Amino acid sequence: MIKINENYKKLQASYLFSDIAKRVTAFQAANPRKHIIRLGIGDVTRALPDACIKAFHAAVDEMAGDATFHGYGPEQGYDFLREAIAEGDYKPRGCDIAADEIFVSDGAKCDSGNFQEIFARDIRVAIPDPVYPVYVDTNVMAGRTGEAEGGRYTGLTYLDGNKANGFIPDLPGEPVDLIYLCFPNNPTGATATKEQLQQWVDYAKANRALILFDAAYEAFVQDESLPRSIYEIDGAREVAVEFRSFSKTAGFTGTRCAYTVVPKDCTAYTANGEAVAIHDLWNRRHTTKFNSVSYPVQKAAEAVYSEAGRAQVKALVSDYLKNARYIRERMEALGYDCIGGENSPYIWIDAKGDSWAFFDALLDKAGVVCTPGAGFGKCGEGYIRISAFNSFENVQQAMSGISEVH
Ligand code: PLP
Repeated sequence: MIKINENYKKLQASYLFSDIAKRVTAFQAANPRKHIIRLGIGDVTRALPDACIKAFHAAVDEMAGDATFHGYGPEQGYDFLREAIAEGDYKPRGCDIAADEIFVSDGAKCDSGNFQEIFARDIRVAIPDPVYPVYVDTNVMAGRTGEAEGGRYTGLTYLDGNKANGFIPDLPGEPVDLIYLCFPNNPTGATATKEQLQQWVDYAKANRALILFDAAYEAFVQDESLPRSIYEIDGAREVAVEFRSFSKTAGFTGTRCAYTVVPKDCTAYTANGEAVAIHDLWNRRHTTKFNSVSYPVQKAAEAVYSEAGRAQVKALVSDYLKNARYIRERMEALGYDCIGGENSPYIWIDAKGDSWAFFDALLDKAGVVCTPGAGFGKCGEGYIRISAFNSFENVQQAMSGISEVH
């Protein structure tokens, strides 16, 4: 008899996006003429940069000839892309990251979900709340938690984000082994300073812990004093793995290309206390379970680092940030407390009451779809997330709608 992994039964069904879809469909049916503006999901809306499209086309043409065709590539990614990443993303910021510490993949979602696999089941895991749900659910699937009680899994250490700490969680009160951090944050848009990240790196070093740092939104950081990478922090090479993605940076959500940095100085320990290089473990896992990203997609990603690619990505990011600033200014003018939107595409808004009630009010009265904060964890209750991924015209229209009904 084939038996299931019982841990899957502990998973709380995520009704968030299906609930949103149901409410939007019902609203549209009742108001067929109403133009609905979706500022809910975190998907980009603009086309790939022209430099990426050109490289993509050229690489597809290469696949058309026997002499230039590419079959299986290196599982870790082609050197041309790994080198472009090390040179383009890390070297200019003074981060000592070598090309062979970069693992190209088809998404930061898979990498941030899969990375926990190389660690023991009985490690203690710390996860912020509110949070991108992948970190929690993958640890539940792996059996690192008990059942859910009152919206939280027993056995996990939750790091509360709230107004008092500006949604930058404090260090845990108990020893933990694996720590998930994400800055700029989804859903809150909060960004951590170098001093704040230094505290986490120091904590990890002191406790022989590891930080999994999700930097999927680093391209949105405009304030030069803020870190874009955990490796801008002293000592991080020994205690941090970083996830990055071309999804939000260059519009690759449907094209799929991302990467994970695993410095060779990061160690974990055997049951006997012997140090093992995490790089070796991840290399083993990655090459066993993954056959890399298609050649044309890696060529398209490489073009992000060309002169034209850089300029186009910068323009794309500033367009979304223009939307974000506008949303934040308008919501603040209406008297709402907001965070994010300056160095992030998300604006996190104190709904002054129930998340879902605010969601319904925005939809019913203004035809605007946002995301209720409660869907991201207990600490998200009472907040909503508005995303800047849309056209400026739609954002303007959404904000006028909200102002009118306010
Ligand atoms: N990490 C965070 C924090 C995200 O918000 C998202 C997507 O919304 C991802 C990772 C997924 O990135 P990718 O498209 O590379 O899988």
